[in-house]
Parts: sequence; structure tokens; C-alpha cells
Amino acid sequence: MSDCLFCKIIGGEIPSTKVFENDYVYAFKDISPVAPVHVLFVPKEHISGVSGITPENSAVVSKIFEAIAEYAHSIGLDESGYRVVSNCGESAGQTVMHLHFHLLGGAMLGKMVSDCERSHE
Ligand code: 5GP
Ligand code: ZN
Repeated sequence: MSDCLFCKIIGGEIPSTKVFENDYVYAFKDISPVAPVHVLFVPKEHISGVSGITPENSAVVSKIFEAIAEYAHSIGLDESGYRVVSNCGESAGQTVMHLHFHLLGGAMLGKMVSDCERSHE
């Protein structure tokens, strides 16, 4: 997609600090890290977000998780633990409309959404 930031990063039009790449997946350091390890894993194919996953394109999601596990192991992060997050849509704070998974680690991570209203109860 020509006007997509992450498509431009994958295509090399915008520079990034790449940490992993294969035929399906590209991974690079987040420009505004919120943890000592903060890497974004994205499919090379443009998918808008979790809501854009379909039976036709979902195979890449397993490729992404294989890549995350391989990379986390390669830097020893699997020993201490890590978190994988994908924000989808406005209220989750998705700012780039290209499917991505945040890999966060290297520190004790706080509980998420602990202070949000439990409106579903
Ligand atoms: P979201 O908020 O959509 O879940 O995550 C988007 C992430 O992309 C944010 O954590 C943000 O810091 C990161 N980001 C935005 N623009 C750039 C960029 O140009 N380069 C890199 N490496 N990360 C970016
Ligand atoms: Zn894209």
C-alpha cells in the first residue's frame, strides 16, 4: 500500500533498525520504545490490523509468531519472559493501520488495563 508507513519501512523507503527478516515477516525496533526490548513484527503483505485477518491471509500470523519465538530465543528473552501485543482500532490506540505485533521485554512489565472500567461485568 503506497501511503502506508510500515509498507514504506518494509520496502526500505523509510529507514528502520531491522532485527529479523524472512520471506513473510519483517521486524524492526520501535522508534519510541516503552521497554528495553521493543520490536515490531509485521507481515510483508499489507493487512490493516487484527480486524483485517481472514482465512485467506491468516497463515502469515503463524509465521509472525514463529519469528517472534525465534528472535526472542536468539536474544535470550525467552528465559526472562516477554509480552506480545497487537492494538486494534481506535480505543486500543492503534496508530499505524498495518498489522503489527509489539514484542516487549527486558524488564518487569506492569499489568495492563488494571485500572480500566470493567464495564462488561
Ligand atoms: P500502535 O500504536 O499502532 O500499536 O503502534 C505503532 C508503533 O509504531 C508505535 O509504538 C510507534 O512508536 C511506532 N512507530 C511509529 N512510526 C514509526 C517509525 O517511523 N519507525 C519506527 N521504527 N517505529 C514507528
Ligand atoms: Zn502497509
